[in-house]
Amino acid sequence: MKPETRLALIHIVGPEHVLEAREDLLCYAYDASPIAMDPAHLPCMVLFPANAEEVSRIVGLANDAGFVIYPRGAGSNVSGGSIPDRDAVVMVLSRMNRILEIDQANMTADLEPGVITEQFQTAVEKLGLFYPPDPSSKAFSTMGGNVAECAGGPRGAKYGVTRDYVLALEVVMPTGEIIHTGARTMKSVAGLDLTRLMVGSEGTLGIITRITVRLLALPAAKKTLMAIFPDLEKPSQTVAKIFTAGMVPTTMELLDKTFINAIEDYRQIGLPREAEAILLIEVDGEAESVDRQADRIAEICHQQGATRTQVAKDAAEAEELWIARRSAFASVCRIKPNIIGEDATVPRAAIPQAVREVQAIAARHNLTIGVMGHAGDGNLHPSILADERDADEMRRVELAVEEIFRSFLALRGTLSGEHGIGRMKSRFLHLETGEAGLKVMRSIKRALDPNNILNPTIGLGA
Ligand SMILES: Cc1cc2nc3c(=O)[nH]c(=O)nc-3n(C[C@H](O)[C@H](O)[C@H](O)COP(=O)(O)OP(=O)(O)OC[C@H]3O[C@@H](n4cnc5c(N)ncnc54)[C@H](O)[C@@H]3O)c2cc1C
Repeated sequence: MKPETRLALIHIVGPEHVLEAREDLLCYAYDASPIAMDPAHLPCMVLFPANAEEVSRIVGLANDAGFVIYPRGAGSNVSGGSIPDRDAVVMVLSRMNRILEIDQANMTADLEPGVITEQFQTAVEKLGLFYPPDPSSKAFSTMGGNVAECAGGPRGAKYGVTRDYVLALEVVMPTGEIIHTGARTMKSVAGLDLTRLMVGSEGTLGIITRITVRLLALPAAKKTLMAIFPDLEKPSQTVAKIFTAGMVPTTMELLDKTFINAIEDYRQIGLPREAEAILLIEVDGEAESVDRQADRIAEICHQQGATRTQVAKDAAEAEELWIARRSAFASVCRIKPNIIGEDATVPRAAIPQAVREVQAIAARHNLTIGVMGHAGDGNLHPSILADERDADEMRRVELAVEEIFRSFLALRGTLSGEHGIGRMKSRFLHLETGEAGLKVMRSIKRALDPNNILNPTIGLGA
């Protein structure tokens, strides 16, 4: 980067909001994906803009001076989405962290992209309102990152994903122009749906600087139950049975023996180590309906072969179970240092077949693949436990990953339910979209970002 460009960038955000020391830059050369930290990904500087105008001026300069920008929230994505190329500029949106308005009457909220998801949820819940999307990373992920990835979470079974709550966005386009998409109304068909185009675009089409979301009323009551199964097949079948019986649980999380034992080693909360699998289920609604739903679901679980069901006795015990579930990824890191956690997703009724495929792939390649995930919406996270120092094991991991993708696609699934494509899956994207579909995506990218300056490594830039 030319010295005058560097000085202009420092001038835009102020010198106290720039990082350039190598040890600082290293912290922005990786994310939560298994891609190892590598000097090849060292950015030349990290900028922390304060508002959309600063973002716009930086983007304008990128077009003039020809540098690449990687937008970044908390860097918690697991698909390699915020790992920069060498000498790129990383733009962290964490200073833009204000909740601007919570409109109780219209049940909407306006916020900046750097707001931490859980902090936003806590703020609206104090007012009796509810923002359902709950990635397990909610304690540290940002709302901007959630929108850019279309994050999901355990509650997706009943409440959907981030996309279902975003009404409007302010976006700095790759040209530097600031646009406002969508509307604050519950419905709007004014022109093309640019909000939907931006949600899940992984920082490739624009930088989100303001978000308007819709909110729900906070459910009056909820109940958590755990169903314990003697194999992995039975809970997989139970999921579809519960929905076809007309029940809509808030969450239905599947954990296999590998995860149960890893979590128990880590937190000692009394998970059944002897179980081959458990379903963690939550229902919400009015107090009486919650009891009825829990009883009916427990009955279905028993009919499907659960050896035991157990209802959390109070909110504290339920929260303990959910904290344990959220620590699932962290827990298995104690078994092997590298976790390749996929999120290929299948239609709900195909979960049993998907689980069988994963087990066969693990056996074929002599790998440990733990199975957990948001079973209520078919979003499994087959997690390969590996050690990157073992070259032969990593070769087998590569083969297994591709086989998982191909088999889930054959079940009419998708490469990613919520984690995005990132660097990790970009070479597989054509398997799902086809060459013609990919061509359309690339032409949208070219039309909006002719100089390919925004997050160019996610497979849309070519
Ligand atoms: C332990 C753990 C559990 C997780 N559980 C879940 C889960 O249950 N569900 C789920 O969906 N994900 C989960 N994730 C993944 C991750 O937390 C989500 O993808 C999250 O949405 C990323 O938010 P972030 O702020 O960290 O964004 P980052 O990782 O910084 O960025 C993600 C992508 O968004 C782009 N981006 C970030 N901010 C902006 C912006 N303002 N404008 C435009 N582009 C932007 C980046 O360029 C990048 O492509 C988990 C991760 C971890 C580590």
